[in-house]
Amino acid sequence: MIHHPGSVFVVSAPSGAGKSTLVHRLVRNVPDLVFSISCTTRQPRAGEVDGRDYFFIDDARFDAMIQEGGFVEWVEVYGHRYGTGRAWLEEVLASGRDVLLDIETTGALNLRQAIPDARMIFILPPSAAALEQRLRSRAKDSDEQVGIRMRHARHEMEQYPAYDYLVMNDDVELAYRQFEGIIHAARAERPRMTPLARRILEGF
Ligand code: ADP
Ligand code: 5GP
Repeated sequence: MIHHPGSVFVVSAPSGAGKSTLVHRLVRNVPDLVFSISCTTRQPRAGEVDGRDYFFIDDARFDAMIQEGGFVEWVEVYGHRYGTGRAWLEEVLASGRDVLLDIETTGALNLRQAIPDARMIFILPPSAAALEQRLRSRAKDSDEQVGIRMRHARHEMEQYPAYDYLVMNDDVELAYRQFEGIIHAARAERPRMTPLARRILEGF
């Protein structure tokens, strides 16, 4: 179990639902919210930066980290491995900042064992057809990769009941407002605000 003063947000969605679009905007706009940088064995896509989007590592390094217990959770999807580094996550959480993890559903459920009060957010595409259209228009994956991702999407969609919040990304502005609203609402929850409320009360 990882103890932490800040809030932990986990975001999952079938690939192409618009999660990166929403998450990048959120991390740019909301102060004191740190994006969790996963390790992966896949190659960087155009525009991705090592140490910002992922830590791109090779299979041998990934194996070594598994052996050392260096991952809070890890999975293999689409023929590549992805994992949340334990040391990195513990350090950020200990600093009291909020953390946002963009991870798929199997890893999200495992992470909840380590961090039971994590807020779990699922991004829904408006439909299967819209999802496929977005994957194709993104033009970052081959036809074969799009096919693999669409087959996997149904499995990911079936996991939505495990999540606390479901945000449908049809109109991106509306979806973004809901998404950001969840973060602000969590920050106003009573347990988190109680120390401040006590200090204010002492001034009366
Ligand atoms: P994910 O991170 O979930 O795989 P992306 O954020 O890369 O998805 O989005 C997939 C594609 O869909 C991108 O080309 C993106 O610009 C587009 N997109 C995202 N949100 C919307 C939306 N609400 N309406 C239409 N297109 C969208
Ligand atoms: P992509 O290759 O599109 O960047 O990511 C593929 C999938 O892997 C996405 O669903 C993403 O959320 C997930 N993913 C990225 N990092 C991690 C991680 O550290 N752990 C788990 N379980 N999934 C991850």
